[in-house]
Amino acid sequence: MTDKEQMSLFDMTPSEIPLQDLPSAEKIPASTDAKKTVRSKKNTKPVSATVLADEQFSSLDELRDAACNCQKCPLAPTRNNVVVERGDRHAKILIIGEAPGEQEDLSGLPFVGKSGQLLDKILESVGFDINKDVYVCNTVKCRPPNNRVPTEIETTTCKPYLLEQIRLVDPKIILLTGATSLKSILSEKLGITKVRGQWYAWDGRLVMPIFHPSYLLRNQSREQGSPKWLTWQDVKAIKVKYLEIISTNSAVDDEEF
Ligand code: URA
Repeated sequence: MTDKEQMSLFDMTPSEIPLQDLPSAEKIPASTDAKKTVRSKKNTKPVSATVLADEQFSSLDELRDAACNCQKCPLAPTRNNVVVERGDRHAKILIIGEAPGEQEDLSGLPFVGKSGQLLDKILESVGFDINKDVYVCNTVKCRPPNNRVPTEIETTTCKPYLLEQIRLVDPKIILLTGATSLKSILSEKLGITKVRGQWYAWDGRLVMPIFHPSYLLRNQSREQGSPKWLTWQDVKAIKVKYLEIISTNSAVDDEEF
């Protein structure tokens, strides 16, 4: 199958995707495990240490309640809903977007509008079950007016919720979609086009920045080297890594019992 044909999987429903074309659990070179390590002190110290004690939660339910009552930043008065999460709270993959848009603000669920639908198709194109394999959240939990980029104050104020989501879900893999989540988690100096598709070691987890699906909606070309084509390479690499992690985990379980 050519890359072009493979990418048309983005436009198929899951039942139409030919399973034999999905990536298999090949061992990938150890050097890609932590291709880059973010060395800034802020990003390498344990997540829990960066969260103030009074903002630590004993469960995701407690976090959700606190976020839903949050009045800490200027986005609170204009929101319809606080948008906290969707997907499986025990998923091995956690996906971080930017902020809720109109559909998300109305429904209270992240990534349910057009870009969310594309995100789901991208994940399903390599066989992920979007209800079981991923947990989806945003850098900022409330909609910025007119979908503007969240301000520094908004992302900083919301960050303890995000860090606590990461700690409580405890994913092996984190996907950063677009510049805002990249800036919030890794570093503000990195450009998404330079770093997408690379694995980073952060907080004992593997982190990969990928293009934001709304960017892919604006760039429809599937030519080799296009954002969609690059995302197809990224999602295949993510699936391979995921399968590798799953098989390592089950090997450990087998030994224990
Ligand atoms: N874009 C995002 O980053 N998050 C959403 O939830 C919706 C659109």
